[in-house]
Amino acid sequence: MTHSYADILLPMPLADKYTYSIPRHMQMQCYVGSRVLIQFGKKRIYTGVVFQTHNNKPEHFEVKQILDILDSEPIINQFQLRMWSWSANYYMCPMGDFFKAALPSGLRIESETKILPTLNYEHIHHLSENGRMVYYALENNISLTANDIAKITMPANPVTVIKELLDNNAAIVQEQVKTGYKPKTEKRLRIHSSVTTEIQLNLILDSLKNAVKQQQLLTLFISTLQNNIFDTNGINKHDFLKQHSLTNAAVKGLIEKSVLEEFTGDISRLNINNKFTTIPAHQLNEHQQNAYNSIIEQFKHKDTVLLHGVTSSGKTELYIHLIERTINEGRQVLYLLPEIALTSQIIHRLQKVFGNKIGVYHSKFSDAERVEIYRNLLQNNENTYKIILGVRSSVFLPFSNLGLVIVDEEHENTYKQFDPSPRYNARDMAIVLALMHKGNTLLGSATPSIESYYNAQTGRYGLAELHHRFKNIQLPQIEIADTLRARKKKQMVSHFSPQLIKQIDTALANNEQVILFQNRRGFSPFIECNSCGWIPKCKACDVSLTYHKAINKLVCHYCGFSINNIIHCPQCKQADIETKGFGTEKIEDEISLIFRNARVGRLDLDTAKGKHGHEKIISDFQNHELDILIGTQMVSKGLDFDHVKVVGILNADSMLGYPDFRAFERSYQLMAQVAGRAGRRDKQGTVVIQTYYPEHKIIMQVKHNRFDLMYSQQLNERKQFFYPPYSRLIKIIMKHRHSNTLNSAAILFANNIKEIEGIKVLGPTNPVIMKVQNLYIKHTLVKLSRTQDLTDIKNTIRKKAELLNQNDNYKSVQIIFDVDPM
Ligand code: ADP
Ligand code: ZN
Ligand code: ZN
Repeated sequence: MTHSYADILLPMPLADKYTYSIPRHMQMQCYVGSRVLIQFGKKRIYTGVVFQTHNNKPEHFEVKQILDILDSEPIINQFQLRMWSWSANYYMCPMGDFFKAALPSGLRIESETKILPTLNYEHIHHLSENGRMVYYALENNISLTANDIAKITMPANPVTVIKELLDNNAAIVQEQVKTGYKPKTEKRLRIHSSVTTEIQLNLILDSLKNAVKQQQLLTLFISTLQNNIFDTNGINKHDFLKQHSLTNAAVKGLIEKSVLEEFTGDISRLNINNKFTTIPAHQLNEHQQNAYNSIIEQFKHKDTVLLHGVTSSGKTELYIHLIERTINEGRQVLYLLPEIALTSQIIHRLQKVFGNKIGVYHSKFSDAERVEIYRNLLQNNENTYKIILGVRSSVFLPFSNLGLVIVDEEHENTYKQFDPSPRYNARDMAIVLALMHKGNTLLGSATPSIESYYNAQTGRYGLAELHHRFKNIQLPQIEIADTLRARKKKQMVSHFSPQLIKQIDTALANNEQVILFQNRRGFSPFIECNSCGWIPKCKACDVSLTYHKAINKLVCHYCGFSINNIIHCPQCKQADIETKGFGTEKIEDEISLIFRNARVGRLDLDTAKGKHGHEKIISDFQNHELDILIGTQMVSKGLDFDHVKVVGILNADSMLGYPDFRAFERSYQLMAQVAGRAGRRDKQGTVVIQTYYPEHKIIMQVKHNRFDLMYSQQLNERKQFFYPPYSRLIKIIMKHRHSNTLNSAAILFANNIKEIEGIKVLGPTNPVIMKVQNLYIKHTLVKLSRTQDLTDIKNTIRKKAELLNQNDNYKSVQIIFDVDPM
């Protein structure tokens, strides 16, 4: 049955669905999930997505018509639409934000749609006067946006004119994908379309008795295509000729006789066409096999299982076996990683087993590549990817039959997007996604998040464990270096304790590698005038500028603002400015001075720029072309190197002192993970943790590998202070140019939501950084119990926010919701 109305999803901040009528002649082609062209407001044209179709005529407003349908097949599937709808409710943001995040910009809905003329259009005299005017303008300009057209047709409505041109086939809407992205092409050969049966082919072969070369060639051609002789996709001409040392002339004869046909085909840049020789997955050892069996068993009645396995216990190996099982059942797999830098290491391991069945998806790919992967998945046939390895945004891809989602390093906070909206957690969305597909989720980590571990302990998730490293290699030995004492005794060599220096020395002497972890990039966090105490700060943000030596600039890490380094203090005019604290860049500098022969590399946001920036550093280290690798938390995330003997954690205290209820949990995870990079192959590794507080309970727990103790203590505190997993949080972030306006708006809003029954409101409070990019910031925290109906409360909060924005004084106060903040 056809429908006369469609609810169209638009990338608008307020409401996100609008009803339009479907012109009769389009009703057969108007599919849910296709992009359509519509008029919005008086004159603007937008592309939107059909969310649903129906026959309910809207009663209170005049319905406009859909102008055109852009896709002959839906490009957003039912799962995606359901997911967006669910997520928009859950994360308290417009559905349009998900749809912006989900589509590569080559497919994304732009507000400025381009109109192209149909070249040499013959019926210009049928058009209205405005129609002709616009057609000529289109011809002269090649293309125009709807806005340009409005200027020509003024005061007439441009939409009427565009519609006229479209209806008369005098113009078309530019398909962004086709123009933004040109596939490479190649010459291909196939059996001529006049030859359709094997009987015909045999007759032709017989008739070529006197042209032996041609007969041979045709036989070769047929045997190359084997069961697929009449495949209209044919084969690559160049490859075919080269493989059999044939010349162009031989083919030419067959083409002239209309036996073969030469044509130009697209080559996908995807590796789906590459040939891989694959090898079977490694055999699992006894522990791994037990964990594997237990996971399979638990999947029968639990959607989600947590795999808690120490670093280097072979979790990845186990994933490979689960993936194999899933794709053998004909279902798709999504493998999520927390960090782009990791994808390059893992992809090699996976390609060995799965060849071209696996594709990678992340933001460093060009838009064209992302569009290709998107379209590839949309097709879902025997030639498309079965496994996608990607970072958080891959949860938005058009999967149609997802059997398994793996969330590796599930505790990582990089799964959480906090800016811009949508502020979602890919780990949590993955679980919902798998549920929609009736598939399973496996969360894996050596240091699970307290929330996930709690869910496993209370039976919501299944639990599987791996306690031993592969080959039973010992977990690294952990030494604690008391840097306060060493400093007093003047034993510190710049930022390095005597223990660490000794360990590095021995490692280098034995031709082994070292990783140094410092959770701060740049050279030094700030510079200070020694005579008057002046510290340069960002003009737009409430932070000091970070000194970057390589570019000799002071940079704001919050807005990117930078100035040249300062030598003379602008306040007291003295030239006595000193760098304070240390970042990765400074460590790199100093370590090179101490170990002059060591080859030193650095992995952080600054060095990992560009598509392959991180790959080069990681592979250099992997190939032992570097001895020491210095990095931020990027080095902590699951990298697997062969020869790392020593790991140094340069400043444990900055993590422990962070003002957040998760600071201890995070510090434990970070330290245990970085430590886990040591001694993964043959020998036990050594870790040196530098701290002013050697007795700190978290440091002790890391030293003795007591995840259990950390978990139970932290859980106790969470219970006492009503934090997750005992409560759910919504952080309300308010921003405004003027601090007074913001203060009163934040207080008013907090009071308004305190009226909602059953919620606890903390704040408003000042965040650690009170101003970013000229906007003052206030935080208010809402705590909800886990048993409450969230939907209602969230809706009430959203309504109250809308009300506040209707107040003239607070119109321009930004109110942002961060659900499950990290
Ligand atoms: P994790 O993901 O738990 O950190 P990995 O899967 O990376 O551990 O395993 C650590 C190392 O041990 C890897 O180099 C991996 O190839 C190797 N390994 C693990 N399990 C096996 C196995 N069953 N057979 C052969 N090698 C294995
Ligand atoms: Zn000064
Ligand atoms: Zn700034």
